[in-house]
Amino acid sequence: MAHDAILEMSDVHHPDVEFQPDGNSSDQIFEGGTGLTYRDYLVLPGYIDFHPSDVHLETRVTRNISIHRPMISSPMDTVTEDRMAIAMALLGGLGVVHYNNTLERQVEIVEKVKRYKNGFIEDPIVLGPHNTIRDLDMIKHKYNFSGIPITEDGTRNSRLIGIVTNRDVDFEKDRTIRLSEVMTREVVTAQEGISLVDANKILKSSKKGKLPIINESGQLVALMCRSDLKKNQEFPYASKDSQKRLMVGAAISTKMEAYDRLDALYRAGVDIVIIDSAQGNSNYQIQTIKYIKKHYPSLEVIAGNVVTTDQCLNLIRAGADALRIGMGPGSICITQDVMAVGRAQATAVYYTAKFARKYGVPVIADGGISTIGDLANALAIGASTTMMGSMFAGTQEAPGDYFYENGVRLKKYRGMASLEAMEAGGDKRYFSEDQEVKVAQGVAGFVVDKGSMMQFVPYLVQGLRQSFQDMGARSISELHEALYSGKLRFEKRSYSAQLQGSVHSLHSFTGPALGGWEQNNRR
Ligand code: IMP
Repeated sequence: MAHDAILEMSDVHHPDVEFQPDGNSSDQIFEGGTGLTYRDYLVLPGYIDFHPSDVHLETRVTRNISIHRPMISSPMDTVTEDRMAIAMALLGGLGVVHYNNTLERQVEIVEKVKRYKNGFIEDPIVLGPHNTIRDLDMIKHKYNFSGIPITEDGTRNSRLIGIVTNRDVDFEKDRTIRLSEVMTREVVTAQEGISLVDANKILKSSKKGKLPIINESGQLVALMCRSDLKKNQEFPYASKDSQKRLMVGAAISTKMEAYDRLDALYRAGVDIVIIDSAQGNSNYQIQTIKYIKKHYPSLEVIAGNVVTTDQCLNLIRAGADALRIGMGPGSICITQDVMAVGRAQATAVYYTAKFARKYGVPVIADGGISTIGDLANALAIGASTTMMGSMFAGTQEAPGDYFYENGVRLKKYRGMASLEAMEAGGDKRYFSEDQEVKVAQGVAGFVVDKGSMMQFVPYLVQGLRQSFQDMGARSISELHEALYSGKLRFEKRSYSAQLQGSVHSLHSFTGPALGGWEQNNRR
């Protein structure tokens, strides 16, 4: 009965009744010459006839590569190395490895991601029969694990001949005894190519702590640990290449050294390169894109950063497969204050996305995202993916150690153009590498512990799905269709409306102000 009444209400949409939608189209919102950020407007609610679990977040990162989650971690030395890139890819996003390191180190990180097999340790520490119990003690002390495979010559990829565990050596007083005398020779193993599920089953039924994986010749190829059993879950949305390896991106500069990096990264199997430059509309960048397209035609190139349609056109003409949008919105960024150049981020994303769409080129909204609302807003105005630094820098998977300040657990997060990062090589992004006087365009700061990406990203995904439900869109492509057809309606909000839209008028309150993890990140 109540449902019928609601249906009757919808008769106001009868063709005879003149219907004027509320709010404004996106063009109306962004016209007028004032730069807007994600907090300056809201999306008006749409019609809900689906569940959040019906929302699909698949999207294009570049012309030819799609992922299931519209999230990319920034190429920054306090954000993306192997652990972050692996987590991002497992969870359906993408990690972009920074270039504030040597070529060898960057390649090593990319190789680690490409080699990663969920649940399987591909580069286990091994010892040989000639090593002593003391060598084992040292490994235990350094890495805090026991259960070391013993191979014929003490290297990986040689024939497995035993395993040494705590139980083999616990009561042995003489630590100079060779491992060949104490190791267990009867080892439960599995053959290379075994599935994660089957390997888990063997680990459980054998009640052993370690399961070495060997090939047909009996050589060790990987190791599985009982202590990882709980972590060895499947990741159905993982971003994978055609050979089922995790996908990874890497940053390069427009300097000469980039050409060597490019070649080495390509050979290591990198899927996407980002030409990482604060102002991407340059002769150097155009030459670099053309060079990549000529010599590595299968490699996808993300160009940027840009914020105007003029800049986009140059990079699209040169062959860019995606554009990275943002000049100044980053949490650690002082470019707009110092250089007087840049653009408010929502305005930049809106105009560049609308323009690049005509050429089939997706855009990445890079920087200035600190809530689920910002994420949803960026996608609602045309971004295909988002890139985040501060959002992820406090997680366990980001490089660096935690420390406490006034009882709060923190991690360091620094701009690549902070003086500190520039000294370590980050100034390649800012054409300032050879300048004697360094002018910083970023700061070094701290972010709060956010736990593991394994919980944090699913939380963001769930929030996004609920936001899409409120907007009445089941997917990113549906959202973009509604945006460009004028069906998606927006409204600017006054400053007092912004205040009213946040927690207010309370003496005090408990619980997160911005929906969960962001409680320490109040505006
Ligand atoms: P966040 O997500 O707001 O922290 O912004 C991260 C983004 O800031 C990165 O993806 C870069 O585009 C940008 N960025 C990184 N380092 C600097 C810097 O030192 N100055 C200005 N922008 C930076």
